[in-house]
Amino acid sequence: MIEVNDNFRLLPVSYLFSEVGRRVADFKAAHPDREVIRMDIGDVTRPLFPCVIKALHEAADELACPESFHGYGPEQGYSFLRDAIARYDYAENGIHIEANDIFVSDGAKSDLGNLGDILSRKCKVAVMNPAYPVYVDDNVIDGRAGELIENHWSNLVYLECDPENNFLPSLPDEKVDVIYLCFPNNPTGVAIKKEQLKLWVDYALANGSLIIYDSAYESFVRDTDTVKSIYEIPGAEKVAIEVRSYSKTAGFTGLRCGYTVVPHTLKGLYANGAEVELNTLWNRRQTTKFNGASYVAQKGAAALYTEEGRASIRENSDYYLKNAAIILKTFKEIGFKAFGGENSPYVWVSAGDGSDSWSLFNRFLQDFGFSTTPGSGFGSKGEGYVRLTGFNSRENTVKAMERLKEAYKG
Ligand code: PLP
Repeated sequence: MIEVNDNFRLLPVSYLFSEVGRRVADFKAAHPDREVIRMDIGDVTRPLFPCVIKALHEAADELACPESFHGYGPEQGYSFLRDAIARYDYAENGIHIEANDIFVSDGAKSDLGNLGDILSRKCKVAVMNPAYPVYVDDNVIDGRAGELIENHWSNLVYLECDPENNFLPSLPDEKVDVIYLCFPNNPTGVAIKKEQLKLWVDYALANGSLIIYDSAYESFVRDTDTVKSIYEIPGAEKVAIEVRSYSKTAGFTGLRCGYTVVPHTLKGLYANGAEVELNTLWNRRQTTKFNGASYVAQKGAAALYTEEGRASIRENSDYYLKNAAIILKTFKEIGFKAFGGENSPYVWVSAGDGSDSWSLFNRFLQDFGFSTTPGSGFGSKGEGYVRLTGFNSRENTVKAMERLKEAYKG
């Protein structure tokens, strides 16, 4: 039989969200009369915007005629979308990003995983603790994580986040090569201010490190001193790759489209000491292993840059932000410790009584009929927390929070 990638043996048996889904399904099967409100998974519930639907229909019609049919497109994405991204997501915010720094993809998750292809297996990697599990698992698969010893991978550097540091980690004591940062953060819901992110950019400039900046939730940022793009920080174009997604911004979780920015100014070294642009490597990687996001999805994404599309993004993220605010307020009122929920759709909750994550998960599910995501699944520093999301409907969010308030009143 074929020898397989042994790193898969090292991965935890179940992906966090599948485990939550399984437990919720078991609960429903055992209690068919109980209504369970999903406050756990980071999927959205509101449909695509009318302008996107119109663009999708038009694109489908184009594909129906020989004169307007599109087959393979550019692996890097169509210029109509790359130009719109460069203009509206960057230039209009005072950031200079070239259209050919931008690579359109089928979403942030694949890009985050695939970026490992252009990095040395020897790179020392730092991840926030807690963090979106994909960063750690990708590095386990690539063989950069080492061994799992007491819930910690031996070769990873953990950037600990807790209430004492407002969930904004300190700079590492040692030199690291790759740093995954995500703001507004999943799972803690905490966003970062410009002067705080500047510390990381300066560290990366001083140490020759690469920051992989996951900006999947930038559309939820409302405060003007809070970062939407790492390229707002001077020098970031020399040290950072930014990964973005239309999933949460515009309900593209099922349609699939996102993009990654790899500026030409970002350089790396081959083992022989020769310098190379990361853009060149990523372009080579994408043209070898990816045939581009679908024409239809890219047409849908381009519609987001019309006046109507931009207004819809604002309205849509306002809706989810309001849900997050309701969740945050409710938990604070009943005496829990609750964080995030501003400039972010996520709320990070602890009972403050030593309850662990899975017992909180069970309590909310069994006593109040809503599901959460156990914080321990995001890393050891997530123990004692659960994550709730603002992605359900207003009605369901209010209903779940009313159940809590009712039980805790008086
Ligand atoms: N990055 C973060 C922090 C996420 O929370 C998610 C999805 O939940 C993703 C990336 C993946 O986004 P996409 O749907 O574009 O693959």
